Amino acid sequence: MAELKVFLRSFGCQMNLSDTERALGLLARQGYEPTDDADAADLLLVNTCAIREKAEDKLFSLLGEWRQIKQRRPGVIVAVMGCVAQEMKAEIRRRNPAVDVVVGTHNFHELGDLVEEVRETRSPITRIGQLRDAIPDDLPTVRDGKYHAWVPVIYGCSYFCSYCIVPFTRGPFQSRELEAIEREVIALLAEGFQEITLLGQTVDRYGLDLATPTTLAALLRRLSPLPGLNRIRFLTSHPVDLDEELVRTVAGLSNVMEYFHFPIQSGSDRMLDEMKRQHTVARYLEQVAMIRRHIPDAAISGDLIVGFPGETEADFEDTLRIVREVEFDSNNTAAYSIRPWTPAGKRTDQVPEDIKRDRLARLNEIVAETSFRRNRRLVGTWQEVLVEGPASRSPGIWTGRTRGNREVFFPGDPSLEGQIVQVKIDSARPFTLRGCVAGRLESRPSDIRPTIPPVVDLL
Ligand code: SF4
Repeated sequence: MAELKVFLRSFGCQMNLSDTERALGLLARQGYEPTDDADAADLLLVNTCAIREKAEDKLFSLLGEWRQIKQRRPGVIVAVMGCVAQEMKAEIRRRNPAVDVVVGTHNFHELGDLVEEVRETRSPITRIGQLRDAIPDDLPTVRDGKYHAWVPVIYGCSYFCSYCIVPFTRGPFQSRELEAIEREVIALLAEGFQEITLLGQTVDRYGLDLATPTTLAALLRRLSPLPGLNRIRFLTSHPVDLDEELVRTVAGLSNVMEYFHFPIQSGSDRMLDEMKRQHTVARYLEQVAMIRRHIPDAAISGDLIVGFPGETEADFEDTLRIVREVEFDSNNTAAYSIRPWTPAGKRTDQVPEDIKRDRLARLNEIVAETSFRRNRRLVGTWQEVLVEGPASRSPGIWTGRTRGNREVFFPGDPSLEGQIVQVKIDSARPFTLRGCVAGRLESRPSDIRPTIPPVVDLL
C-alpha cells in the first residue's frame, strides 16, 4: 500500500486528545501516517471542540486555510470529527463545501472506512450517530506520549449544567466495563507506559450505570497493583460525586497521585444555583477540607467561569474570594460563552463582553498569585518527577511532572528520559518549578511521598 499522510489538528479537552489518538490508530490501519506538513498531506483531519464559540471560530478559519490547499491539490481529503461535527452536522459542509467527511462523537470509529469510501467515490459523507450509541472498545490507538497515556473510563455527561454543551454533543454518561479498562491498561504497561490518566467529564461518577455497579475507588484499587503501573491520575471530578471513600483510596494507594481536578466554576451560591451545578460553596469547601485532612499535600485544581448571565460584581468578587480561600494549585479560567441548546444561552441578561474580559483578567491575576504562592511552598523540597523528555526551547533542560501535576524543569540528559527521579526544587514561577535531579528510583515507588529525601544525591 502506498504511504499516505494525515495532517491533524486537535482542539479542546483531554477527552478529545484521547479520541484523536484513537482516530490516528484507525487511520493507521488504512495506511495513513501523521505528517507535520499540511501541504504534503493526503488527509487533513480536525478534531473539534464546541465548548466555546471561539473554538468554533478557530475551526472555520482553519477550514478556510484547508480549502485553499484543496484548491491547489483537489485530491486531498478534508475530514471533521468531534463535538462541532456532532453539533453542526451537515451545516459544516454548507459553510465550507471543501469538507469531505463529517463524523460525530459516537461514530468516529467509522472514520477510517469513511475516508476510504470518499477516496473511492469522491462523494462527501456526513455520518452522525445517536448519542446513546455505545462506543466500541479495543479501538487501535496511536499514542502521543511514550510514558503517559490517556484512558477514557466514562463517555458523555448527564449533569446538564445550564451553560454546557457537552451533554448535547457527547450524550449521556456511559461507563466502560472495568475489564475493558483493565485490558487497555495492561496492554499499555506491556508497551512501556508508566503513567495513566483515567478520563471522564465526571470521572468520580464511574461505574454507577454498569450492570454490576462499581465506583472509581474500586477501579483504582483494581488497577493499582498492576506491575509497572507507577502512576495513576484521574480527571475531571464533580463536587457532587467526590466522596470520602475515593479520597481515602487515593491516600492509601502510593501509585495514585494526590491530585484532584475538581471544578467549582463560581464562588457565588446564586451563580452555582443558576448554573445548575447541584452543590453549594459550603459543600465544596467541606470537600476541600476533607481532602486536606486525609492528604495534607494534595494538589487541588479546578475550572472557573466569569460572566455567566446575571453575574454581578458581588458574585464575581465571591469567585475571587474562593480562589484565595481554597488556595488552588491551578485553575483553568474562561469567560462565559453562549452555547446552542443550553438554558443559559437563551437568557436575556448576558454580561457585556468588555465586563467579561475585565473580570477574566482580574481573575487570572489572582489565580496566578495563588498558584505562585503554592509553588513557592515547594522550594527546598524534594519532588518525585516522571521525566517526560527535553524541554522544547531550552537545550540541556529536561521536563517532567510532579505527583501534584506541576511541570518541573531541570538540567538533565537523555539517560533520564522515562525515569522517575527525585528533583530538589530550587525556584518557583507562577505555573512551573525549577530544580535539580537528585537520584533515580530503581524500582516502583511503593512508599514515595512528595517531600522525602533523595535516594542518591548527585548534586
Ligand atoms: S458536569 Fe456540567 S460542565 Fe461538566 S461536562 Fe457535565 S454538563 Fe458540562
